[in-house]
Amino acid sequence: MFLHRKELIQPVSVGKPNAVFGQFLLEQFGGATGELTAALQYWVQSFHVENAAIRDMLQDIAIEEFSHLEMVGKLIAQHTSKMDQTTAYEAPIFKLKGGGPHFLDSQGSCWTAAYIQEGGNVVRDLRANISAEAGARQTYEALIKACDDEGTKKTLHHLLTREITHAAMFMKALDQMGKLDDPMFGNIPPDDTVNLVFNLSQGEDARGPWNEAPFEYIAAPEPKGGMPLAPINPDDEKPASKADAKGKHANGRK
Ligand code: MN
Ligand code: MN
Repeated sequence: MFLHRKELIQPVSVGKPNAVFGQFLLEQFGGATGELTAALQYWVQSFHVENAAIRDMLQDIAIEEFSHLEMVGKLIAQHTSKMDQTTAYEAPIFKLKGGGPHFLDSQGSCWTAAYIQEGGNVVRDLRANISAEAGARQTYEALIKACDDEGTKKTLHHLLTREITHAAMFMKALDQMGKLDDPMFGNIPPDDTVNLVFNLSQGEDARGPWNEAPFEYIAAPEPKGGMPLAPINPDDEKPASKADAKGKHANGRK
């Protein structure tokens, strides 16, 4: 069951309403890195994760993300509460669709489930979640840098901080499974190229631990696949036969 409490998880108090900044904030409401994406991703992941403790963690964080969605929505509502004709032209989304949040990003693109990464294996899910948290943190930093309202900044700073906490939790969960620094997961072992790394961008090469032992660095990679089969396309244009060519000349065509 769901039980909603009307109090916010943290305060939301906008000092200077600015509809243009409200439109920026849509990025974290209906955007790819936004709270709706995170909330739904972690919530739905929890339906197929067998480990009870990790399932519980995903549900705790999913509900916190819904609380964040609520806070971002309230920020947008406050920023769009006093719109004059000038801001209506500068932030037309709210003039046309009404004030408050919508399932759009800052550029007016519709939210889509294609933003969500989930399914199959808990390691895939948790790694996708680290990526989601990194995206959210980065967007909050960009929003804070673009913001000149102290109250809004305080809320955004809290939201940025929580994404760091969530990333740390997901990393701990992977670490507990021995999967934080082991790229292999699932049931199909890799083939014998797993430790080969290829120098495929050549010139002023720089090296690092990603291409040192246990990896085998192939400085001048050679193709191993041979030439591909020539395409077969019955509909493609065919060269004219000699007989056809003569016939065309006889009819006076070139
Ligand atoms: Mn969040
Ligand atoms: Mn988060």
